[in-house]
Amino acid sequence: MGTMRKMQMTETPFQAKLLFRNTWLIQGAGCNCYLLVGNKRGVLIDTGFATENLQVFAQSLTDKPVEIAANTHGHFAHTGGNGWFTHAYMSAKALEIAKIPYPRIANLGYPLDYLVTVVGDGDVIDLGFRYLEVIEIPAHSEGSIAFLDKREHILFTGDEVDDQVMLISKKDEKQPVVARHASAMEKLLSRKDDFDLICAGHTLVLSPAAIIADYLTHDQLIISKTLTGKEITGFDFPTDFELPQPAFKRASVYEDTTLLYDVRFIQGPVLQRQVTLQLEP
Ligand SMILES: [Zn+2]
Repeated sequence: MGTMRKMQMTETPFQAKLLFRNTWLIQGAGCNCYLLVGNKRGVLIDTGFATENLQVFAQSLTDKPVEIAANTHGHFAHTGGNGWFTHAYMSAKALEIAKIPYPRIANLGYPLDYLVTVVGDGDVIDLGFRYLEVIEIPAHSEGSIAFLDKREHILFTGDEVDDQVMLISKKDEKQPVVARHASAMEKLLSRKDDFDLICAGHTLVLSPAAIIADYLTHDQLIISKTLTGKEITGFDFPTDFELPQPAFKRASVYEDTTLLYDVRFIQGPVLQRQVTLQLEP
């Protein structure tokens, strides 16, 4: 058995790094994947678009069963490896897109017949003396959720909080809105006593949670037109990313945060609806 494990480890495209007890960062799948293990089971937060068996790799790190994935949002770079697991937790909005591979990888034969349990605000995933609370934070993606590890005081933020946040979508459809991102950051700040560090979807790992307040300020500076981003030219986008209508897109930097957004989608319909509701008796 030891030999088998060793062979799998050397042949795999994945690398695991122990972050702290019972918690690993797995890279090589297309996004940051985090294996969290409790007394009863392990769960993998996000699965990249792994074409190799990510479940076997994650399982090699612990004796507790690792059969469940949990997705921060529905982008295929975070859900594509779900099929190696029997079961995935995600939001209802994430489920609408989670099983749709990006066109350039659509014919790679991803297993997509896994079961899904839809989760939302306040739901708790029980790993055994370790609980993950779901906090809905839709902006970069409509179905984004954060996972709060209440025992370790860590927040897993997906693509809503990272070194840069893309509030632009790949196609010219349902654009993210800066004001929605501000609402999401306010929501996370209201829970700031519950976590000290964040683990993000691509770059930031165990980074100070103070960046959330900086993102809220950044959002507000854009909303109030105090800060205007620069036109996006020569930006290093992910492979195959085609920026639709680039004339409307901006990139702005504040402290350690970078926001990419569309000037037509700063104050969105969501915020207007909230204002209307507040005015009603
Ligand atoms: Zn994303």
